[in-house]
Amino acid sequence: MICFIIPDFSAIIKSQHGSYRPVTSHCIKEPGMNYSRANVKNYNSPKLRKQHAAQQRFIHSLVKTLLILILLIMAAAAIGFASYAKTQIDKLPDISQVNISPSGKKTKILDTDGNVINTLSAKGANREYVSLDKIPVDLQHAFVAIEDERFYKHNGVDLRGIIRAAFTGLANGGRFNEGASTITQQLLKNNYFATWSEENTFKERLDQKIQEQYLAVQLEKVKSKDEILENYLNTINLGQSTLGVEAASERYFNKNVSDLTLSECAVIAGIANNPTKYDPVSHPKNNARRREKVLSNMLSQGYIKKDDYQKAMDDDVYSRIKNVNNSNGETTGSYFTDALIEQVASDLKDQLDISETEAYMKLYTGGLTIYSTQDSNIQKVVDDEINDASNYPEGTKYSICFSLTVVKEDGTTRNYNEKTMRSYYKRTNKKYTLNFNTKEEAKAAYAEYKKQVSAGGEVPSGGENVTYTLEPEAAMTVIDQRTGQVRAMSGGREKDGSSINRAVDITRQPGDTFKVLSAYAPAINAGSKTLASVEDDAPDRLENGKVLKNSDGHYRGFTTIREAITDSVNVVAVKMLSDIGTGLGYQYVKDFGFTTLKEGDNNQSLALGSLTKGVTNIELAAAYAAIANQGYYNRPSYYTTVEDSDGKTILDTTDDKGHRVLKKTTAWLLTSAMGDAIKTGTAKNASFSGMTIAGQGGLTANRRDTVFAGYSPYYTCVIWGGYDDNSPQKSGSYSGTIWKAVMKQIHQGLENRTFKRPEGIVSSLVCKKSGKLPEENVCNHDPRGNMVYNEFFTTDTVPTETCDHHVKLDICKKSGLPAGEFCPRSEIEQKVFITGGSKDTDDGKYMISSADTKKTCDVHSTKVPREANADFNIKIEPSE
Ligand SMILES: [Zn+2]
Ligand SMILES: [Zn+2]
Repeated sequence: MICFIIPDFSAIIKSQHGSYRPVTSHCIKEPGMNYSRANVKNYNSPKLRKQHAAQQRFIHSLVKTLLILILLIMAAAAIGFASYAKTQIDKLPDISQVNISPSGKKTKILDTDGNVINTLSAKGANREYVSLDKIPVDLQHAFVAIEDERFYKHNGVDLRGIIRAAFTGLANGGRFNEGASTITQQLLKNNYFATWSEENTFKERLDQKIQEQYLAVQLEKVKSKDEILENYLNTINLGQSTLGVEAASERYFNKNVSDLTLSECAVIAGIANNPTKYDPVSHPKNNARRREKVLSNMLSQGYIKKDDYQKAMDDDVYSRIKNVNNSNGETTGSYFTDALIEQVASDLKDQLDISETEAYMKLYTGGLTIYSTQDSNIQKVVDDEINDASNYPEGTKYSICFSLTVVKEDGTTRNYNEKTMRSYYKRTNKKYTLNFNTKEEAKAAYAEYKKQVSAGGEVPSGGENVTYTLEPEAAMTVIDQRTGQVRAMSGGREKDGSSINRAVDITRQPGDTFKVLSAYAPAINAGSKTLASVEDDAPDRLENGKVLKNSDGHYRGFTTIREAITDSVNVVAVKMLSDIGTGLGYQYVKDFGFTTLKEGDNNQSLALGSLTKGVTNIELAAAYAAIANQGYYNRPSYYTTVEDSDGKTILDTTDDKGHRVLKKTTAWLLTSAMGDAIKTGTAKNASFSGMTIAGQGGLTANRRDTVFAGYSPYYTCVIWGGYDDNSPQKSGSYSGTIWKAVMKQIHQGLENRTFKRPEGIVSSLVCKKSGKLPEENVCNHDPRGNMVYNEFFTTDTVPTETCDHHVKLDICKKSGLPAGEFCPRSEIEQKVFITGGSKDTDDGKYMISSADTKKTCDVHSTKVPREANADFNIKIEPSE
């Protein structure tokens, strides 16, 4: 049915009164449509017809009035908006005053003493301004194709784009984004508006949008498309602290922008929309999807041919992207400032509701003052110790990281990197690793490999990029737990331009340091366990069938949480987590702020810190800082406040609210046990005098990771050490020694305080083998010594039951069984046994099975009255 419906207001009004059926549908009649005969008949009456006509006239005039009214309102609104827009436009300077070339004011970064530790400027990141004739046409077209396809046609504002963005915005529930910004507008936003004051409210954003669109149109009147594009391409944020296409080209491909291929151009243009999400180093898969869109847009918009498209798509471009930044020492940032910049940019973006590019523009050209949380004295201690080669007992090795492009004789291009080199050498040496004893060895191995793979081919200019890294690597974070402020950070040994910040950018296994977080903290906080609660430390299996063992192969039998923390006992941690439920442990670990956990980590391995992805050093430090801060978690922050160029505070973390993870009492109890660990337990090598400290060491299989996490009442410090390629290590003790070296120095001159004991902590004598009240003259007579000790509890968890793992029996020496009524008194001794428990443990030798407790001596079974025994030295005559 083809149906043209002309709205008839009368029909609608009538239908509301129900007087007659509303149908004025100009349809092509179709069989089966049923018009009521009665209705048709009604119109045939002259009186009714007249009445109807009058009604129609009235309604038509009503409709006409309504329409005019609506038009008038719309006109008034348009005039109102126009005059509103005009007041916004009047605030703008003449277009000749607007500078769109990269410029702006430097941003200063201050340490906690107010000293400038770094400055950020667009010049630093944007090393060289390149004119458009040096920028490949493919790159220009790539940006136009993906960012602003009507760039060459519109007058600064893309109406079609705006309408489309409006519809998408409405469809997304009013979430409007940058979709409609033309390259001209983006340029103005980045250069002209970036240094303006903040816009937070809807009105402020609307004001800026109006001004931006107006200026864009004005700008297009005085500047050519090429001038606009040139400035845009020299200004845009392309991730990894690069601004402009030249900086990006050198950063990602180690060559001048003029040498980029189409395939590489597409990678770089793909970054612009969201430099974090489409970062080709950290998110190559995201960038690859974007790159494909860039290329297909270029194809559909006629900038490239199908052949070019296919050739670019076939190029294995990501294998030759430089994953480290060795820009000849020009990167000025430290690991701390790198992390700081990332946080400030992200907070600017979120809190001012601006794009990431605008946030970076503000950072590099906005003349901001950033009050960082870095304490330069602490930072120096950290840097000195992390960089001290004598701290690494295995000695220093060198790893290699490179990208090598070879153009073969037949014109095909092949890419090589350290992974292909490793496979090459592994063919003849299964144990081959990329960790060399000297830099010369590394260089020689590379030279030989390069000779092999480049034979009969050529390495084009910019086709080679090699870096050497000191190994094993390390990362360290120092946090003031009371605020969450990061005082110092190291992301590796010798920051020689490497952009990998091992404290924040990579995840590694936390090993034993996770036991407290995932098992003991939840067990005590929510699982009604106490530091005296015991598990049977004996060989066992995990639910997945894997053997559960202790790293030292030693099994203690019944073991308290305090002992398990002190000696880092695997079995107890796993059994404790299983007791309280892995789900509870998983929830606590998330509450401790870890963001890199996977759903698959919700299992028993969580107790051992054996995770799918691992954790970052900064998040591990923040979690331990929460225990140090009486159970209250603070987000790690690298700055307190940020001021704009007028001195107005635009970001402030000092009022940030964290959240409580543990009760104060739980945090204090765990601290008490971790104090033992450092005094007498597995963490002993980190111990030093003059300051109250607590902590846990952690090792993973074959010492691939060595971690130390600990704190004083002042600072929390976490260190990780290991090879970048996850090679095994001979020694894992250096994390503790470096931790100690740093902590000792940064506490010099600080008063030795204790951890504040909260209300609600009491102490009670308990038996170590059961965690329950000691049985008099039993638990203190364990064959190994007195098992009664004084433990701390919360008032509501003090044990009320008596020890059920000890039993005292009269044993006949002759039979070794419980004495019967005929055993001579001289042969009887009182012995204390362990009940329950497992054989292959320290308890094994002292156990008595419940069956044996029920037996009686089978040597003295004859009926000799007990009174007649040796006690009275009376010779016993056999009775006849
Ligand atoms: Zn006992
Ligand atoms: Zn006997």
